[in-house]
Amino acid sequence: MNEPSQNWAKCYEYGAARIHSPASVDQLRQIVQSSPKVRALGTRHSFNGLPDTEGDLVHLGRMSRPLAIDRERMTVTAEAGIRYGELGAYLEANGFALANLASLPHISVAGACSTATHGSGDRNGNLATSVCGVDLMVADGSIVQLGRNETPETFDGAVVALGALGIAVRVTLDILPTFAVRQDVYEDMPFDEALGHFDETMSSGYSVSLFTDWTAPCFNQVWRKRATSPDDDSPAEPEFFGGRLAAHDLNPIKGSSPENCTTQTGIPGRWNDRLNHFRMEFTPSVGDELQSEYLVPRSRAVEALRAVQLLADQIAPHLYLTEVRSIAADRMWLSTAYARDSVAIHFTWKKEWDAVHDLMPLIEAALAPYEPRPHWGKLFTIVPAVLRERYPRLHDFHSLAKSMDPAGKFRNAFVDGLLGS
Ligand SMILES: Cc1cc2nc3c(=O)[nH]c(=O)nc-3n(C[C@H](O)[C@H](O)[C@H](O)COP(=O)(O)OP(=O)(O)OC[C@H]3O[C@@H](n4cnc5c(N)ncnc54)[C@H](O)[C@@H]3O)c2cc1C
Repeated sequence: MNEPSQNWAKCYEYGAARIHSPASVDQLRQIVQSSPKVRALGTRHSFNGLPDTEGDLVHLGRMSRPLAIDRERMTVTAEAGIRYGELGAYLEANGFALANLASLPHISVAGACSTATHGSGDRNGNLATSVCGVDLMVADGSIVQLGRNETPETFDGAVVALGALGIAVRVTLDILPTFAVRQDVYEDMPFDEALGHFDETMSSGYSVSLFTDWTAPCFNQVWRKRATSPDDDSPAEPEFFGGRLAAHDLNPIKGSSPENCTTQTGIPGRWNDRLNHFRMEFTPSVGDELQSEYLVPRSRAVEALRAVQLLADQIAPHLYLTEVRSIAADRMWLSTAYARDSVAIHFTWKKEWDAVHDLMPLIEAALAPYEPRPHWGKLFTIVPAVLRERYPRLHDFHSLAKSMDPAGKFRNAFVDGLLGS
């Protein structure tokens, strides 16, 4: 109880009658068994009403411990409320790593994976693709164990599940031996160069992000994160497709302090100190903001970016920044990168609701030929009927939701709208 009733960005007020913070599986079970409508709340970083319910919200912040590393299977198991920053520190202390991270370490593993949260990297799937097992508390309070190898027929529907199947209490993720990463930032790379050499640019590192505020025809910053040895002190090329190597750390948001950001200038560091853009001890991004993001097929990304560029003059006054990232295709039914290598075009907006509501349909129309899939946890106006066409396995998800939760205890208006029920 006494959990904040707003999301992180303070742009959505949860309508739930109660918000609980159970400290054990038994306490959680009591809530689930006694409530006709219940949903999980992660760290509240989504920008829309996706987590909400009219009944009971449960936040698993007190069920967030790392549990065990299996060195033979190369997996880690943790309570589902754990945040990536905490899991990363635990893994690194034991000599292990995750394959990738999002821009911020503050989000919970279960909440992030439920929405197909992603970082960047041509060969990196979204964060949910690292999950190989999940223990779900279902409607009667029992726990169903699902695994990539153990229950292959349903597993691809059960991780990116928008909280609609049950409440994840434990997650198991693939791990790697720890590795070092350096990030070099290039400033003012002209669009013509970056888009003319898009594949080379995006594949030039383990994880590459392009940032623009659309006020000039260039990417203001290009963040190139490369896996390397911890003692790599080789100089980076001074120029990269017309971008100039930055001499000191930068924040991708103009005018914001680089103190909030992970170390750049090519200094190698641990994977969990470099793959995020923002540091755990500081506020990520701006705070007072809205976000939307659309994933398009990587093969059409240049066309899609050129289509958005035509709206630059309308977008720029209301925007902090756009980030462009690359995500490998996966098989998860509701993943925004389902069956297609993707590029994500992201918008961090000023908190100007009216302008953002007017702009989203314009961007969605410009991107329509590329069948954009909006980030589930960000703002969009694409209607459910159109979304349904973009998820070929949605009917399988619908059947799974009906069989695991026949009374719809874990469903809400967002999920019902999507499923068409
Ligand atoms: C500053 C900022 C930066 C961001 N950067 C990125 C980024 O780099 N990449 C990206 O892809 N996204 C990014 N996001 C979006 C964010 O990662 C997603 O919205 C993510 O889902 C938030 O996770 P959360 O833990 O806050 O979950 P919430 O937003 O609280 O919930 C999201 C969904 O997860 C479900 N859920 C939560 N816990 C559980 C559980 N235990 N069991 C079952 N379902 C559960 C909820 O029911 C809900 O459906 C960013 C958001 C912010 C605010």
